[in-house]
Amino acid sequence: MIKEIKDKEVLSLIEQEKERENKTINLIASENYSSLDVRNAETSFFINKYAEGYPGKRYYSGCIYTDKIENLAIERCKNLFNVKYVNVQPHSGSQANMAAYFSLIKPKDKILSLSLDNGGHLTHGSPVNFSGQLFNFDHYSLTKDGFLDYDQILSIAKKFKPKVIVAGYSAYSRTIDFKKFREIADIVGAFLLSDISHISGLIASNVHPDPFKYSHIVTSTTHKTLRGPRGAVIMTNDSDIFENIQKSVFPGVQGGPLENVIASKAIAFGEDLKDSFKSYSRDIIANSKYLVEALQVRGFNIVSGGSDNHLFVIDLRNFDITGKEAQDLLELCNINVSKSLIPYDKNKPWIASGIRLGTPAITSRGLKTREVEKVADFIEQIIKTRKKIDIKKISTEVEDFITKFPIPDYYV
Ligand SMILES: *Cc1c(COP(=O)(O)O)cnc(C)c1O
Repeated sequence: MIKEIKDKEVLSLIEQEKERENKTINLIASENYSSLDVRNAETSFFINKYAEGYPGKRYYSGCIYTDKIENLAIERCKNLFNVKYVNVQPHSGSQANMAAYFSLIKPKDKILSLSLDNGGHLTHGSPVNFSGQLFNFDHYSLTKDGFLDYDQILSIAKKFKPKVIVAGYSAYSRTIDFKKFREIADIVGAFLLSDISHISGLIASNVHPDPFKYSHIVTSTTHKTLRGPRGAVIMTNDSDIFENIQKSVFPGVQGGPLENVIASKAIAFGEDLKDSFKSYSRDIIANSKYLVEALQVRGFNIVSGGSDNHLFVIDLRNFDITGKEAQDLLELCNINVSKSLIPYDKNKPWIASGIRLGTPAITSRGLKTREVEKVADFIEQIIKTRKKIDIKKISTEVEDFITKFPIPDYYV
C-alpha cells in the first residue's frame, strides 16, 4: 500500500523509518513489529467511518460493516483472554486507564499504585499526568533488590484505604501475584485494576499467571507483546462494571472510535489465537532469560537478578555510565534501548542509572539464544569501550548482523 502514497516528502520519511527499523537491533521492551495485515487494515476504508456508540447503538447511519468488524474484534479478544466483556475502542493504554478509573471511582478518590520511578506508568498517578492531577494517589515501592513487597503493599493499603489498587507495570521483570493483590484489595475493600499493557501477550499464551479471575478490571495495550496496532482494550468479567466501562469510554473520555484500528486489532487477535503465537511468547521469555545470563557473565548487574518475562533493567552504576549516556551511545551503534530508573535511583528520570531491555521485537525477527549471545557481545563491547569506541565500525557490524533477520511481513 505504501507504494501508492503520492506525497514524496512523507513517503521519503516513511521509507527512511523502514530502513532505520531494518538496520536496528530493537530492545525497547514496549515495541514490536506488527504484520503486514495489521498495518494494512489501518489504511482501509474504515478510516473514513464515524461510529460514535457501540455495535447496534450508533449515532450515525452506515455502520453495518463497522458493527461487524467491531463485534469480530470483541469476540476474538474474548476468546484470546477467556474473558466475558471487552471494550476494544480505547485509542491508547493511557485512555484505557483513564476510562477504567472513571468506571470505578470519582475524581479525588484514592488509588494505590507502584511509583513511576520504581517501574510504574505515568497513568498510575504521576503528577504530570491526568491521573495524578485528578485522583489522590499513594504509592508502594519495590524492595532494594527490586521485588514487589506484598506485606508493604498490605500495610500501606490498610493505612491509606484506597478505592482502587493498581497492579501491572512498565519495567518490572518478575511474575506478578494477582491472587495476593486481590486478597489485599478485599481486606481493604478496594477494586483491583490490573494493567497488563506489557505482559498481555504472555498472559494470552499462558506463560504468565492469569489476572482475570482476581481483577475487577483488566486494561491492556495492543501494540506491545500482543503485536497488534497502537491502541488498547478494557476487559472485565463483571456485567455491572462493564456497563460503567462502556459509558466511561464513550461518551466519557473519547468520541468516535478508530474503526480502522479496530479492524487491525481484530487481525492481531486472530494472529494471537494461533499456536505459533504461544511458541513465540515462550521464545520471548527464553531469549530474555538468556540475555540476562549472558550479560551477567559479562559483569552487568540486573535489577532483581533476573527476568521471568520479556524485559529487565540493567543497573549501570558499576560501569560509570548513566542510562541516558548508554541509551545515546547504543543508538549511535544501531541498538535501541530505553533509559530506566532503578529502584531508589539518585539520578533524575531524564538521566537515570539504568537501561531497560526487552526481547519481543528481536524474537519477532527470529533471533534465538545463539544470536542473543551476539547481542550481549555488542552491548558489552559498546558499554565497556565507551569513548574509545569506533562507532562507524560497530554500527556497520550491528547492521550486517541484524539485517540477516528481516522484519517479517507475516507470522506463520
Ligand atoms: C505502555 C503502557 C501504558 C500506556 O500506553 P500508551 O498506549 O502509550 O498510552 C499503560 N500502562 C502501562 C503499564 C504501560 O506499560
